Amino acid sequence: MDEPLRHVFPGIFEDSENPRLIGGHCSDCKRKFFPKPIVCPYCLGPVEATPLSRKGVIYSFSIIRVKPPFDLPQPYPVGFVDLVEDGLRIITLLDPLKTGELAIGKDVHLMVAPLGVDAGGQPCLRYYFTPA
Ligand SMILES: [Zn+2]
Repeated sequence: MDEPLRHVFPGIFEDSENPRLIGGHCSDCKRKFFPKPIVCPYCLGPVEATPLSRKGVIYSFSIIRVKPPFDLPQPYPVGFVDLVEDGLRIITLLDPLKTGELAIGKDVHLMVAPLGVDAGGQPCLRYYFTPA
């Protein structure tokens, strides 16, 4: 039996039928973050791990056409996605197979799938947002 693919970076997402990014939540000022910081950068309060919304809206994006790192497809899109339920804007990879469907204001949802390689050059699971 094949070993499951490693995550591109440990602890930043859950891989399941309904994958979730793991962010941080400040128990003092109630702000959320992604990725999770060690302490809250606003109030220095403790930050606990929390799953974030799977649904987002594209705030802005760009299609990168230079040679990609980590064996990503060429071209590959990156963008800012608003996780409206969490009050959070994150920078993220977008679906490289659906660049023609990307648009500002488009609804997207989180995917976790084999894509590219990790820092050690091994195939890995990566998260990205895809048009809903
Ligand atoms: Zn705080």
